[in-house]
Amino acid sequence: MMKKLAGVAVFVLFAVSLFAQRNCESYQYGKAMLAQYPSLAEKVATIESFTHRNNSTVTVNELPGAPVAQDIITIPVVVHIIYHFPEENISDERVLEQIDILNRDFRKMNSDTVNTPAGFATLAADTKIEFKLASADPKDRATKGILHQYSPIKQWQMDDKVKFSSEMGDDAWDATSYLNIWVCNLDEILGYASFPGTPADRDGVVINYKAFGAVNYFSQYNKGRTAVHEVGHWLNLRHIWGDADCGDDAVDDTPRQRSYTPGCPSGIRVTCDNASLGGDMYMNYMDFTSDPCVNMFTYGQKQRMRSLFEPGGFRNSILYSGGLGVPAIEQAALPKDPPRWLHIRVYPNPVNNVVMLNFEYDTRWVGTTLTVTDIMGRVMIRTKVTRPLQQIDLSQLKQGIYFIRGDKGDEKMMEKIVKM
Ligand SMILES: [Zn+2]
Repeated sequence: MMKKLAGVAVFVLFAVSLFAQRNCESYQYGKAMLAQYPSLAEKVATIESFTHRNNSTVTVNELPGAPVAQDIITIPVVVHIIYHFPEENISDERVLEQIDILNRDFRKMNSDTVNTPAGFATLAADTKIEFKLASADPKDRATKGILHQYSPIKQWQMDDKVKFSSEMGDDAWDATSYLNIWVCNLDEILGYASFPGTPADRDGVVINYKAFGAVNYFSQYNKGRTAVHEVGHWLNLRHIWGDADCGDDAVDDTPRQRSYTPGCPSGIRVTCDNASLGGDMYMNYMDFTSDPCVNMFTYGQKQRMRSLFEPGGFRNSILYSGGLGVPAIEQAALPKDPPRWLHIRVYPNPVNNVVMLNFEYDTRWVGTTLTVTDIMGRVMIRTKVTRPLQQIDLSQLKQGIYFIRGDKGDEKMMEKIVKM
């Protein structure tokens, strides 16, 4: 009994620690991209020089005739919802809610801006960046900017597979014209973003469906600010502590601070000799502080983000995007069929008496009938799949080779098993 209780306690501690602070993985992702794409470092350096060109001697090729960011920058957005279980197939209403949250926070329309400490209040900026679901897709067909797609994959990692149809995710829309947001069941991560310069087919942000919109899976991430933080990265913002001990986030008006801030602190927290600057700016969206306790971007961050849209800037092309225009083709693209795919696990194999079948990767098999045939094709056993984890009793069969077969019209399965 004691042993059992101890086991439960360990599990609870683990579950709490999992999301005890915002576990954005964008910095680690950025490092992984630099390792994978050696030419990326130069590209990132060029973007960085461009960002700082106004206070440096770097000369920049200002493209003549390129549009200049108007006062308000509006970014066309496409949201790819990749689901396996029904609860992951979030509603369009929740997507609209998240877009509203992005607009509210980036435009400094959030009511909790009153919580910004007096010392930082004059630094809090309306970035004048807005977000709008796309009305035209890359082929200029009508769209609502929200794609719902079933996947046989139950959980996603930071390996970008969710960004590729070939991996049972969904391909990015042209990243020079759209902000791609993938919403899926991310394994132990709230979200991650690509920094400017990342290859176009990986460009965008990935958000855990449990933290997308104002939802209550986690009380500390219930205000849709995971997306605000990740889109900040997509717009070239770094973590407020520069991902190093008293590191640099390349923004002038954010005080240096020792590290990330977990939870929901109050008062002035002094680290890295930042007392004269007001202490840690833990209420900045780019810290790890809980959703209810972040409420600001600074003017420096605003300038850093908006510089991407200037002529010659990495995201300048977004200003040319046709994504928010009237589509040439009124008919929207048909939703994609669920992929023809089967990941069935049969074990043990060889088997003594009872073989287990795991259909969890494609629960569409539930309801179909399976047969066990011998090598002559004679049906020995016929059984209906009633649940994702099913067993078949083979004790009546003689030793030898058998086949478990399923037929679902356009999909077939056949697994060879050895009865001992
Ligand atoms: Zn982050």
